[in-house]
Amino acid sequence: AGRRRWILTGQLGPAFDDGGPILLIESKSTFTKRPMHRAKAHLFLSAIRHRAAELGDRAEFHQVDRYEEVVEAGADLEVIDPPSWTARRFVRERGLRVLPSRGFVTSERDFAAWASTRDGKRLLLEDFYRTVRERTGILMRGDQPEGGRWNYDHDNRNPPPKGAARLGLPEPLWPEEDDIDAEVREDLDRWQRDGLVQLVGDDGPRRFAATAAEAEAALADFIETRLGDFGPFEDAMLGGDWTMAHSLLSAPLNLGLLDPRDAVETVVAEYHAGRAPLSSVEGFTRQIIGWRDYVWHLYWHLGEPYRTSHNALGAHEPLPRRFRELDSAAIQSNCLRETIDGMRRHGWAHHIQRLMVLGNWALQHGYDPVALNDWFIDMFVDGTPWVMPANVIGMSQHADGGIVATKPYASGGAYIDKMSDYCGGCVFNPKVRLGEDACPFTAGYWAFLDRVEPRIRHNTRMAQPLAGMRRLSDLRAVVDQERTREQW
Ligand code: FAD
Ligand code: SF4
Repeated sequence: AGRRRWILTGQLGPAFDDGGPILLIESKSTFTKRPMHRAKAHLFLSAIRHRAAELGDRAEFHQVDRYEEVVEAGADLEVIDPPSWTARRFVRERGLRVLPSRGFVTSERDFAAWASTRDGKRLLLEDFYRTVRERTGILMRGDQPEGGRWNYDHDNRNPPPKGAARLGLPEPLWPEEDDIDAEVREDLDRWQRDGLVQLVGDDGPRRFAATAAEAEAALADFIETRLGDFGPFEDAMLGGDWTMAHSLLSAPLNLGLLDPRDAVETVVAEYHAGRAPLSSVEGFTRQIIGWRDYVWHLYWHLGEPYRTSHNALGAHEPLPRRFRELDSAAIQSNCLRETIDGMRRHGWAHHIQRLMVLGNWALQHGYDPVALNDWFIDMFVDGTPWVMPANVIGMSQHADGGIVATKPYASGGAYIDKMSDYCGGCVFNPKVRLGEDACPFTAGYWAFLDRVEPRIRHNTRMAQPLAGMRRLSDLRAVVDQERTREQW
Protein backbone atom coordinates (compact mmCIF):
# COMPACT_ATOMS: atom_id res chain seq x y z
CA ALA A 1 0.00 0.00 0.00
CA GLY A 2 1.13 3.56 -0.67
CA ARG A 3 1.61 6.32 1.81
CA ARG A 4 -1.28 7.02 4.14
CA ARG A 5 -3.31 10.11 3.30
CA TRP A 6 -4.52 12.35 6.09
CA ILE A 7 -7.96 13.67 5.12
CA LEU A 8 -9.01 16.94 6.79
CA THR A 9 -12.34 18.64 7.34
CA GLY A 10 -13.19 20.09 3.95
CA GLN A 11 -11.88 16.98 2.22
CA LEU A 12 -14.43 14.42 3.31
CA GLY A 13 -15.90 13.41 -0.07
CA PRO A 14 -14.91 10.92 -2.77
CA ALA A 15 -12.97 13.53 -4.79
CA PHE A 16 -10.28 13.53 -2.10
CA ASP A 17 -9.88 9.77 -2.01
CA ASP A 18 -7.63 7.99 -4.52
CA GLY A 19 -8.13 4.54 -3.04
CA GLY A 20 -5.15 4.29 -0.69
CA PRO A 21 -5.07 4.01 3.09
CA ILE A 22 -6.60 6.94 4.93
CA LEU A 23 -6.11 8.68 8.24
CA LEU A 24 -8.96 10.64 9.83
CA ILE A 25 -8.54 12.70 12.98
CA GLU A 26 -11.34 14.22 15.03
CA SER A 27 -9.70 16.72 17.35
CA LYS A 28 -11.55 18.42 20.20
CA SER A 29 -9.30 21.46 19.74
CA THR A 30 -11.40 22.36 16.68
CA PHE A 31 -14.35 23.04 18.95
CA THR A 32 -12.77 24.50 22.06
CA LYS A 33 -10.98 27.58 20.74
CA ARG A 34 -13.95 29.93 20.42
CA PRO A 35 -17.72 29.74 20.91
CA MET A 36 -19.29 27.82 18.02
CA HIS A 37 -22.79 27.23 16.74
CA ARG A 38 -24.01 23.90 17.96
CA ALA A 39 -25.41 22.95 14.58
CA LYS A 40 -21.99 23.52 13.07
CA ALA A 41 -20.16 21.44 15.68
CA HIS A 42 -22.77 18.73 15.13
CA LEU A 43 -22.40 18.81 11.35
CA PHE A 44 -18.59 18.62 11.47
CA LEU A 45 -18.58 15.72 13.92
CA SER A 46 -21.34 13.93 12.07
CA ALA A 47 -19.53 14.32 8.74
CA ILE A 48 -16.17 12.99 9.91
CA ARG A 49 -17.73 10.09 11.84
CA HIS A 50 -19.90 9.15 8.88
CA ARG A 51 -16.81 9.20 6.66
CA ALA A 52 -14.92 6.98 9.08
CA ALA A 53 -17.83 4.53 9.13
CA GLU A 54 -18.05 4.52 5.32
CA LEU A 55 -14.35 3.84 4.84
CA GLY A 56 -14.36 1.08 7.44
CA ASP A 57 -11.06 -0.82 7.41
CA ARG A 58 -9.51 1.52 4.87
CA ALA A 59 -9.32 4.33 7.40
CA GLU A 60 -7.61 4.70 10.72
CA PHE A 61 -9.79 7.00 12.82
CA HIS A 62 -8.53 8.83 15.89
CA GLN A 63 -10.56 10.86 18.37
CA VAL A 64 -8.13 13.02 20.29
CA ASP A 65 -7.73 16.38 22.02
CA ARG A 66 -5.05 17.76 19.69
CA TYR A 67 -3.86 16.86 16.19
CA GLU A 68 -0.26 16.76 17.44
CA GLU A 69 -1.08 13.58 19.34
CA VAL A 70 -1.33 11.71 16.02
CA VAL A 71 0.65 13.76 13.53
CA GLU A 72 4.27 13.96 14.61
CA ALA A 73 7.04 15.76 12.81
CA GLY A 74 8.41 13.63 9.99
CA ALA A 75 5.33 11.37 9.91
CA ASP A 76 5.12 9.35 6.71
CA LEU A 77 1.87 10.95 5.56
CA GLU A 78 0.58 12.72 2.50
CA VAL A 79 -2.06 15.39 2.53
CA ILE A 80 -4.02 17.33 -0.07
CA ASP A 81 -3.07 20.96 0.49
CA PRO A 82 -5.39 22.01 3.33
CA PRO A 83 -7.95 24.83 3.14
CA SER A 84 -6.52 27.28 5.72
CA TRP A 85 -3.27 29.13 6.32
CA THR A 86 -3.03 27.57 9.79
CA ALA A 87 -3.42 24.01 8.54
CA ARG A 88 -0.98 24.60 5.68
CA ARG A 89 1.62 25.77 8.15
CA PHE A 90 0.94 22.75 10.37
CA VAL A 91 1.49 20.19 7.60
CA ARG A 92 4.56 21.94 6.21
CA GLU A 93 6.19 22.32 9.62
CA ARG A 94 5.84 18.58 10.08
CA GLY A 95 7.27 17.79 6.68
CA LEU A 96 4.23 15.94 5.28
CA ARG A 97 4.07 15.34 1.54
CA VAL A 98 1.67 17.96 0.17
CA LEU A 99 -0.40 17.39 -3.00
CA PRO A 100 -2.12 20.26 -4.88
CA SER A 101 -5.45 21.40 -3.43
CA ARG A 102 -8.75 20.11 -4.82
CA GLY A 103 -12.40 20.93 -4.46
CA PHE A 104 -12.55 24.00 -6.67
CA VAL A 105 -13.11 24.44 -10.39
CA THR A 106 -10.00 26.52 -11.08
CA SER A 107 -6.66 25.25 -9.77
CA GLU A 108 -4.41 27.52 -7.72
CA ARG A 109 -1.91 27.40 -10.55
CA ASP A 110 -4.46 28.52 -13.18
CA PHE A 111 -5.66 31.31 -10.92
CA ALA A 112 -2.12 32.57 -10.33
CA ALA A 113 -1.53 32.54 -14.10
CA TRP A 114 -4.72 34.53 -14.67
CA ALA A 115 -3.94 37.02 -11.87
CA SER A 116 -0.47 37.61 -13.31
CA THR A 117 -2.00 38.77 -16.60
CA ARG A 118 -3.89 41.54 -14.77
CA ASP A 119 -0.79 43.73 -14.32
CA GLY A 120 -1.79 45.00 -10.90
CA LYS A 121 -5.26 45.94 -12.13
CA ARG A 122 -8.20 45.16 -9.88
CA LEU A 123 -9.12 41.46 -9.96
CA LEU A 124 -12.74 41.57 -11.00
CA LEU A 125 -15.09 38.67 -10.41
CA GLU A 126 -16.73 39.25 -13.78
CA ASP A 127 -13.42 38.98 -15.67
CA PHE A 128 -12.41 35.88 -13.74
CA TYR A 129 -15.80 34.26 -14.29
CA ARG A 130 -15.70 34.78 -18.07
CA THR A 131 -12.21 33.29 -18.27
CA VAL A 132 -13.43 30.22 -16.39
CA ARG A 133 -16.46 29.86 -18.68
CA GLU A 134 -14.16 30.08 -21.70
CA ARG A 135 -11.61 27.66 -20.28
CA THR A 136 -14.11 25.03 -19.16
CA GLY A 137 -16.69 25.48 -21.93
CA ILE A 138 -19.43 25.54 -19.27
CA LEU A 139 -22.52 27.33 -20.69
CA MET A 140 -20.67 28.21 -23.88
CA ARG A 141 -21.71 27.96 -27.50
CA GLY A 142 -18.40 28.04 -29.35
CA ASP A 143 -16.69 31.16 -28.06
CA GLN A 144 -19.98 32.85 -27.18
CA PRO A 145 -21.89 32.65 -23.91
CA GLU A 146 -25.01 30.52 -24.02
CA GLY A 147 -28.02 32.74 -24.76
CA GLY A 148 -25.78 35.59 -25.92
CA ARG A 149 -25.15 37.14 -22.49
CA TRP A 150 -22.59 36.39 -19.77
CA ASN A 151 -24.71 37.58 -16.96
CA TYR A 152 -28.41 37.39 -16.16
CA ASP A 153 -28.15 39.33 -12.91
CA HIS A 154 -30.74 41.88 -13.87
CA ASP A 155 -33.34 39.16 -14.48
CA ASN A 156 -32.46 37.87 -11.02
CA ARG A 157 -33.46 40.74 -8.80
CA ASN A 158 -37.17 40.18 -8.35
CA PRO A 159 -38.75 41.23 -5.09
CA PRO A 160 -40.77 38.46 -3.44
CA PRO A 161 -44.31 37.93 -4.76
CA LYS A 162 -46.63 40.53 -3.22
CA GLY A 163 -48.76 39.35 -0.30
CA ALA A 164 -47.18 35.88 -0.18
CA ALA A 165 -45.80 34.66 3.14
CA ARG A 166 -43.74 31.97 1.40
CA LEU A 167 -42.50 31.29 -2.11
CA GLY A 168 -44.82 28.30 -1.96
CA LEU A 169 -42.20 25.69 -2.87
CA PRO A 170 -42.22 22.20 -1.38
CA GLU A 171 -40.36 21.73 1.90
CA PRO A 172 -36.72 20.90 1.10
CA LEU A 173 -35.65 17.28 1.51
CA TRP A 174 -33.99 17.00 4.91
CA PRO A 175 -31.38 14.39 5.84
CA GLU A 176 -32.51 11.61 8.11
CA GLU A 177 -30.55 11.49 11.33
CA ASP A 178 -29.10 8.19 12.46
CA ASP A 179 -27.24 6.64 15.41
CA ILE A 180 -24.12 8.64 14.58
CA ASP A 181 -26.07 11.89 14.97
CA ALA A 182 -27.54 10.71 18.26
CA GLU A 183 -24.05 9.92 19.54
CA VAL A 184 -22.76 13.32 18.38
CA ARG A 185 -25.57 15.02 20.29
CA GLU A 186 -24.72 13.08 23.45
CA ASP A 187 -21.03 13.92 23.13
CA LEU A 188 -21.80 17.62 22.65
CA ASP A 189 -24.06 17.56 25.71
CA ARG A 190 -21.27 16.02 27.74
CA TRP A 191 -18.57 18.38 26.46
CA GLN A 192 -20.86 21.27 27.25
CA ARG A 193 -21.59 19.97 30.77
CA ASP A 194 -17.86 19.53 31.35
CA GLY A 195 -17.24 23.10 30.24
CA LEU A 196 -15.03 22.00 27.36
CA VAL A 197 -16.95 23.83 24.67
CA GLN A 198 -19.08 26.96 24.45
CA LEU A 199 -21.92 26.19 22.09
CA VAL A 200 -24.39 28.75 20.79
CA GLY A 201 -27.73 28.19 19.09
CA ASP A 202 -29.96 25.18 18.58
CA ASP A 203 -28.96 21.69 17.55
CA GLY A 204 -32.32 20.92 16.05
CA PRO A 205 -32.67 18.16 13.52
CA ARG A 206 -29.60 18.24 11.26
CA ARG A 207 -30.54 20.15 8.11
CA PHE A 208 -27.36 19.92 6.05
CA ALA A 209 -25.76 16.98 4.29
CA ALA A 210 -23.09 15.09 6.25
CA THR A 211 -22.33 12.43 3.62
CA ALA A 212 -21.73 12.44 -0.13
CA ALA A 213 -24.96 10.51 -0.64
CA GLU A 214 -26.95 13.08 1.33
CA ALA A 215 -25.27 15.86 -0.64
CA GLU A 216 -26.25 14.21 -3.94
CA ALA A 217 -29.82 13.89 -2.70
CA ALA A 218 -29.86 17.55 -1.63
CA LEU A 219 -28.62 18.60 -5.08
CA ALA A 220 -31.27 16.49 -6.81
CA ASP A 221 -33.97 17.96 -4.57
CA PHE A 222 -32.79 21.51 -5.28
CA ILE A 223 -32.94 20.83 -9.02
CA GLU A 224 -36.36 19.27 -8.83
CA THR A 225 -38.09 21.75 -6.57
CA ARG A 226 -36.20 25.07 -6.39
CA LEU A 227 -33.83 25.63 -9.33
CA GLY A 228 -36.46 27.32 -11.50
CA ASP A 229 -37.09 29.98 -8.84
CA PHE A 230 -33.48 30.26 -7.73
CA GLY A 231 -32.49 32.96 -10.22
CA PRO A 232 -35.52 35.25 -10.08
CA PHE A 233 -35.74 35.23 -6.26
CA GLU A 234 -32.03 35.05 -5.46
CA ASP A 235 -32.10 38.43 -3.70
CA ALA A 236 -35.59 38.25 -2.17
CA MET A 237 -36.41 37.73 1.53
CA LEU A 238 -39.60 36.55 3.23
CA GLY A 239 -39.99 36.32 7.00
CA GLY A 240 -41.95 33.07 6.73
CA ASP A 241 -39.60 31.31 4.31
CA TRP A 242 -36.12 30.75 5.66
CA THR A 243 -34.72 28.78 2.70
CA MET A 244 -36.47 30.60 -0.18
CA ALA A 245 -35.24 28.91 -3.42
CA HIS A 246 -31.61 28.59 -2.32
CA SER A 247 -29.67 25.40 -2.87
CA LEU A 248 -28.54 24.82 0.76
CA LEU A 249 -25.38 23.28 -0.70
CA SER A 250 -22.67 25.52 0.75
CA ALA A 251 -22.05 23.29 3.78
CA PRO A 252 -21.63 20.02 1.83
CA LEU A 253 -19.54 21.86 -0.80
CA ASN A 254 -17.24 23.30 1.86
CA LEU A 255 -16.96 19.96 3.65
CA GLY A 256 -15.77 18.49 0.34
CA LEU A 257 -18.75 16.15 0.09
CA LEU A 258 -19.99 17.54 -3.20
CA ASP A 259 -17.71 18.35 -6.10
CA PRO A 260 -18.47 21.88 -7.37
CA ARG A 261 -17.83 21.01 -11.00
CA ASP A 262 -20.17 18.00 -10.83
CA ALA A 263 -22.86 20.12 -9.18
CA VAL A 264 -22.60 22.79 -11.88
CA GLU A 265 -22.58 20.27 -14.71
CA THR A 266 -25.68 18.56 -13.31
CA VAL A 267 -27.48 21.90 -13.14
CA VAL A 268 -26.32 22.96 -16.62
CA ALA A 269 -27.63 19.66 -18.03
CA GLU A 270 -31.08 20.71 -16.82
CA TYR A 271 -30.86 23.80 -19.00
CA HIS A 272 -29.73 21.82 -22.04
CA ALA A 273 -32.60 19.38 -21.48
CA GLY A 274 -35.02 22.32 -21.51
CA ARG A 275 -36.05 21.76 -17.89
CA ALA A 276 -34.59 24.90 -16.28
CA PRO A 277 -34.40 28.56 -17.31
CA LEU A 278 -31.05 30.03 -18.29
CA SER A 279 -31.31 32.87 -15.75
CA SER A 280 -31.40 30.39 -12.86
CA VAL A 281 -28.78 28.07 -14.32
CA GLU A 282 -26.38 30.88 -15.19
CA GLY A 283 -26.93 32.46 -11.74
CA PHE A 284 -26.11 29.20 -9.95
CA THR A 285 -23.10 28.58 -12.21
CA ARG A 286 -21.73 32.07 -11.48
CA GLN A 287 -22.11 31.57 -7.73
CA ILE A 288 -20.09 28.36 -7.86
CA ILE A 289 -17.45 28.61 -10.62
CA GLY A 290 -17.34 32.39 -10.14
CA TRP A 291 -17.88 33.59 -6.59
CA ARG A 292 -17.03 30.48 -4.60
CA ASP A 293 -13.80 29.88 -6.46
CA TYR A 294 -12.97 33.58 -6.55
CA VAL A 295 -13.12 34.05 -2.75
CA TRP A 296 -11.07 30.86 -2.29
CA HIS A 297 -8.34 32.10 -4.59
CA LEU A 298 -8.39 35.59 -3.10
CA TYR A 299 -7.82 34.02 0.32
CA TRP A 300 -4.42 32.82 -0.89
CA HIS A 301 -3.72 35.66 -3.29
CA LEU A 302 -4.30 38.40 -0.69
CA GLY A 303 -2.16 36.61 1.89
CA GLU A 304 -2.66 35.62 5.51
CA PRO A 305 -2.29 39.14 6.98
CA TYR A 306 -5.20 40.42 4.84
CA ARG A 307 -7.74 39.36 7.50
CA THR A 308 -6.23 41.46 10.28
CA SER A 309 -4.26 44.23 8.61
CA HIS A 310 -7.07 46.39 7.25
CA ASN A 311 -9.56 48.66 8.95
CA ALA A 312 -10.14 51.36 6.37
CA LEU A 313 -13.34 52.66 7.93
CA GLY A 314 -11.99 52.80 11.49
CA ALA A 315 -14.45 50.20 12.83
CA HIS A 316 -13.67 49.23 16.43
CA GLU A 317 -16.99 48.43 18.14
CA PRO A 318 -17.24 45.01 19.81
CA LEU A 319 -20.01 42.67 18.69
CA PRO A 320 -23.08 43.14 20.88
CA ARG A 321 -24.33 40.28 23.06
CA ARG A 322 -27.41 39.82 20.87
CA PHE A 323 -25.09 38.87 18.03
CA ARG A 324 -22.62 36.81 20.07
CA GLU A 325 -25.37 34.78 21.74
CA LEU A 326 -27.76 34.84 18.77
CA ASP A 327 -30.35 36.26 21.15
CA SER A 328 -33.09 37.76 19.02
CA ALA A 329 -35.68 38.17 21.79
CA ALA A 330 -34.94 41.81 22.53
CA ILE A 331 -34.39 42.82 18.90
CA GLN A 332 -37.19 45.02 17.55
CA SER A 333 -36.02 45.51 13.98
CA ASN A 334 -38.02 42.82 12.24
CA CYS A 335 -35.46 42.08 9.50
CA LEU A 336 -32.61 41.71 11.97
CA ARG A 337 -34.65 39.73 14.50
CA GLU A 338 -35.81 37.23 11.88
CA THR A 339 -32.31 36.83 10.49
CA ILE A 340 -30.64 36.32 13.87
CA ASP A 341 -33.44 34.00 14.95
CA GLY A 342 -32.95 31.94 11.78
CA MET A 343 -29.24 31.77 12.55
CA ARG A 344 -30.00 30.56 16.06
CA ARG A 345 -32.23 27.81 14.72
CA HIS A 346 -30.19 26.69 11.71
CA GLY A 347 -26.65 28.13 11.78
CA TRP A 348 -27.44 29.51 8.35
CA ALA A 349 -28.92 32.54 6.61
CA HIS A 350 -29.27 33.17 2.91
CA HIS A 351 -27.01 35.49 0.98
CA ILE A 352 -29.03 38.70 1.08
CA GLN A 353 -29.67 38.28 4.80
CA ARG A 354 -25.91 37.91 5.29
CA LEU A 355 -24.97 40.83 3.07
CA MET A 356 -27.80 43.35 3.34
CA VAL A 357 -29.10 42.68 6.86
CA LEU A 358 -26.24 41.36 9.03
CA GLY A 359 -23.31 42.79 7.07
CA ASN A 360 -25.05 46.09 6.40
CA TRP A 361 -25.93 46.45 10.10
CA ALA A 362 -22.37 45.67 11.22
CA LEU A 363 -20.96 48.11 8.66
CA GLN A 364 -23.29 50.91 9.78
CA HIS A 365 -22.43 50.30 13.44
CA GLY A 366 -18.69 50.01 12.94
CA TYR A 367 -18.27 46.51 14.36
CA ASP A 368 -14.67 45.37 14.43
CA PRO A 369 -14.16 43.58 11.09
CA VAL A 370 -11.93 40.79 12.42
CA ALA A 371 -14.37 39.97 15.23
CA LEU A 372 -17.18 39.95 12.69
CA ASN A 373 -15.20 37.77 10.27
CA ASP A 374 -14.55 35.19 12.98
CA TRP A 375 -18.10 35.35 14.31
CA PHE A 376 -19.41 34.48 10.85
CA ILE A 377 -16.95 31.56 10.63
CA ASP A 378 -18.06 30.22 14.00
CA MET A 379 -21.81 30.76 13.63
CA PHE A 380 -22.46 29.48 10.10
CA VAL A 381 -22.54 25.76 9.31
CA ASP A 382 -20.76 26.62 6.06
CA GLY A 383 -18.26 29.02 7.66
CA THR A 384 -14.58 28.39 6.89
CA PRO A 385 -11.45 30.52 7.25
CA TRP A 386 -11.04 30.78 3.45
CA VAL A 387 -14.56 31.84 2.58
CA MET A 388 -14.78 34.78 4.95
CA PRO A 389 -12.06 37.41 4.37
CA ALA A 390 -13.06 38.37 0.80
CA ASN A 391 -16.74 38.24 1.75
CA VAL A 392 -16.48 40.11 5.05
CA ILE A 393 -13.28 42.17 5.26
CA GLY A 394 -13.64 42.96 1.56
CA MET A 395 -17.18 42.90 0.20
CA SER A 396 -19.39 43.45 3.17
CA GLN A 397 -17.34 45.69 5.50
CA HIS A 398 -15.10 47.50 3.00
CA ALA A 399 -12.39 47.26 5.65
CA ASP A 400 -9.79 46.75 2.92
CA GLY A 401 -10.57 50.20 1.50
CA GLY A 402 -11.48 48.91 -1.95
CA ILE A 403 -9.29 45.92 -2.83
CA VAL A 404 -12.22 43.54 -3.32
CA ALA A 405 -15.20 45.86 -3.87
CA THR A 406 -15.31 49.41 -5.13
CA LYS A 407 -17.64 50.78 -2.44
CA PRO A 408 -19.17 49.86 0.93
CA TYR A 409 -22.31 47.71 0.71
CA ALA A 410 -24.40 50.10 2.83
CA SER A 411 -28.06 50.69 2.27
CA GLY A 412 -31.06 52.04 4.12
CA GLY A 413 -34.41 50.44 4.93
CA ALA A 414 -35.80 51.20 1.45
CA TYR A 415 -33.76 48.36 -0.06
CA ILE A 416 -34.92 45.89 2.59
CA ASP A 417 -38.51 47.10 2.17
CA LYS A 418 -38.35 46.55 -1.58
CA MET A 419 -36.79 43.10 -1.38
CA SER A 420 -38.71 41.62 1.58
CA ASP A 421 -41.92 41.55 3.59
CA TYR A 422 -40.11 42.41 6.83
CA CYS A 423 -41.10 46.07 7.07
CA GLY A 424 -44.87 45.48 7.08
CA GLY A 425 -44.65 43.75 10.45
CA CYS A 426 -42.04 46.04 11.98
CA VAL A 427 -42.42 48.64 14.73
CA PHE A 428 -40.20 50.93 12.62
CA ASN A 429 -40.96 52.60 9.32
CA PRO A 430 -38.36 52.31 6.54
CA LYS A 431 -39.34 55.73 5.18
CA VAL A 432 -38.74 57.54 8.46
CA ARG A 433 -35.31 58.66 9.65
CA LEU A 434 -36.15 60.80 12.65
CA GLY A 435 -38.46 60.15 15.57
CA GLU A 436 -39.86 57.18 17.45
CA ASP A 437 -40.54 54.98 14.45
CA ALA A 438 -37.36 55.90 12.59
CA CYS A 439 -35.98 52.77 10.92
CA PRO A 440 -32.54 51.96 12.38
CA PHE A 441 -31.32 50.94 8.91
CA THR A 442 -32.50 54.13 7.23
CA ALA A 443 -31.29 56.47 9.96
CA GLY A 444 -28.23 54.27 10.47
CA TYR A 445 -27.31 54.66 6.82
CA TRP A 446 -27.08 58.45 7.09
CA ALA A 447 -25.29 58.29 10.43
CA PHE A 448 -22.81 55.84 8.86
CA LEU A 449 -22.12 58.12 5.89
CA ASP A 450 -21.65 61.03 8.26
CA ARG A 451 -19.14 59.08 10.37
CA VAL A 452 -17.03 57.69 7.52
CA GLU A 453 -17.28 60.73 5.22
CA PRO A 454 -13.67 61.82 5.79
CA ARG A 455 -12.50 58.32 4.81
CA ILE A 456 -14.60 57.87 1.68
CA ARG A 457 -15.01 61.36 0.28
CA HIS A 458 -12.53 60.67 -2.52
CA ASN A 459 -14.39 57.55 -3.67
CA THR A 460 -16.21 58.70 -6.80
CA ARG A 461 -18.79 55.92 -6.41
CA MET A 462 -19.79 57.47 -3.08
CA ALA A 463 -20.15 61.00 -4.45
CA GLN A 464 -23.89 60.73 -4.98
CA PRO A 465 -24.81 59.27 -1.58
CA LEU A 466 -22.56 61.82 0.13
CA ALA A 467 -24.18 64.66 -1.79
CA GLY A 468 -27.57 63.29 -0.68
CA MET A 469 -26.40 63.26 2.92
CA ARG A 470 -25.17 66.86 2.75
CA ARG A 471 -28.61 67.96 1.57
CA LEU A 472 -30.36 66.56 4.66
CA SER A 473 -31.44 69.46 6.87
CA ASP A 474 -31.97 67.15 9.87
CA LEU A 475 -28.67 65.24 9.59
CA ARG A 476 -27.29 66.34 12.98
CA ALA A 477 -30.49 65.27 14.73
CA VAL A 478 -30.43 61.88 12.93
CA VAL A 479 -26.79 61.32 13.90
CA ASP A 480 -27.50 62.20 17.55
CA GLN A 481 -30.54 59.94 17.60
CA GLU A 482 -28.52 56.97 16.30
CA ARG A 483 -25.63 57.61 18.66
CA THR A 484 -27.92 57.18 21.65
CA ARG A 485 -30.36 54.65 20.19
CA GLU A 486 -31.45 51.99 22.68
CA GLN A 487 -34.34 50.39 20.82
CA TRP A 488 -33.27 48.29 17.86
P1 FAD B 1 -27.03 29.54 -2.90
O1 FAD B 1 -27.69 30.86 -2.83
O2 FAD B 1 -27.85 28.40 -3.34
O3 FAD B 1 -25.74 29.69 -3.84
C1 FAD B 1 -25.11 28.55 -4.41
C2 FAD B 1 -23.69 28.40 -3.96
O4 FAD B 1 -22.88 29.45 -4.43
C3 FAD B 1 -23.46 28.39 -2.46
O5 FAD B 1 -23.74 27.11 -1.92
C4 FAD B 1 -21.98 28.76 -2.36
O6 FAD B 1 -21.19 27.61 -2.45
C5 FAD B 1 -21.75 29.61 -3.59
N1 FAD B 1 -21.60 31.04 -3.26
C6 FAD B 1 -22.47 32.01 -3.59
N2 FAD B 1 -22.00 33.21 -3.22
C7 FAD B 1 -20.82 32.99 -2.62
C8 FAD B 1 -19.85 33.85 -2.02
N3 FAD B 1 -20.02 35.17 -1.96
N4 FAD B 1 -18.77 33.27 -1.49
C9 FAD B 1 -18.60 31.92 -1.53
N5 FAD B 1 -19.47 31.08 -2.10
C10 FAD B 1 -20.56 31.61 -2.64
N6 FAD B 1 -20.59 31.18 1.94
C11 FAD B 1 -20.10 30.08 2.51
O7 FAD B 1 -19.96 29.04 1.86
N7 FAD B 1 -19.71 30.08 3.82
C12 FAD B 1 -19.81 31.20 4.58
O8 FAD B 1 -19.51 31.16 5.77
C13 FAD B 1 -20.30 32.38 3.99
N8 FAD B 1 -20.39 33.53 4.71
C14 FAD B 1 -20.83 34.67 4.11
C15 FAD B 1 -20.84 35.86 4.84
C16 FAD B 1 -21.22 37.04 4.24
C17 FAD B 1 -21.20 38.32 5.03
C18 FAD B 1 -21.61 37.04 2.89
C19 FAD B 1 -22.02 38.31 2.22
C20 FAD B 1 -21.62 35.85 2.17
C21 FAD B 1 -21.22 34.66 2.75
N9 FAD B 1 -21.21 33.45 2.04
C22 FAD B 1 -20.71 32.33 2.64
C23 FAD B 1 -21.67 33.37 0.65
C24 FAD B 1 -23.17 32.98 0.50
O9 FAD B 1 -23.95 33.88 1.24
C25 FAD B 1 -23.45 31.54 0.95
O10 FAD B 1 -22.61 30.67 0.24
C26 FAD B 1 -24.88 31.10 0.70
O11 FAD B 1 -25.78 31.97 1.33
C27 FAD B 1 -25.08 29.67 1.17
O12 FAD B 1 -26.38 29.22 0.95
P2 FAD B 1 -26.74 28.28 -0.29
O13 FAD B 1 -25.85 27.12 -0.33
O14 FAD B 1 -28.20 28.02 -0.26
O15 FAD B 1 -26.35 29.24 -1.50
FE1 SF4 C 1 -35.80 46.37 9.06
FE2 SF4 C 1 -36.30 49.03 9.06
FE3 SF4 C 1 -37.85 47.39 7.66
FE4 SF4 C 1 -37.94 47.35 10.34
S1 SF4 C 1 -38.50 49.07 8.99
S2 SF4 C 1 -37.87 45.58 8.98
S3 SF4 C 1 -35.81 47.76 10.85
S4 SF4 C 1 -35.68 47.78 7.31
